[in-house]
Amino acid sequence: MITSIRYHPLIERDSNAHEYAPLFVTTDEAAVRRNHSFYLEEVVNGYFRLCATKTLTLPDSGTMTVACPVCSNRLENITAGKHTPTQALYRCRVCNK
Ligand SMILES: [Zn+2]
Repeated sequence: MITSIRYHPLIERDSNAHEYAPLFVTTDEAAVRRNHSFYLEEVVNGYFRLCATKTLTLPDSGTMTVACPVCSNRLENITAGKHTPTQALYRCRVCNK
């Protein structure tokens, strides 16, 4: 079985609240990295790793909110070191009941 990792480019929806929302889903990581500053890498269904092409522009992940690409609910940061914004792992509590 062939599985491809899915990528969800993010846009900043509210810069004061550090709210990010996914735009679309693609399997083309190179194109995402060329055109977007932040994106989610869907490693397993419902689990997302935050990736950034410009790390310095990312806010503290403790203050960031990211919407679930599937249901739009707020993703939960399940990374132990919540002050490292890049490579933080998020899960959706609604999609992973
Ligand atoms: Zn969800």
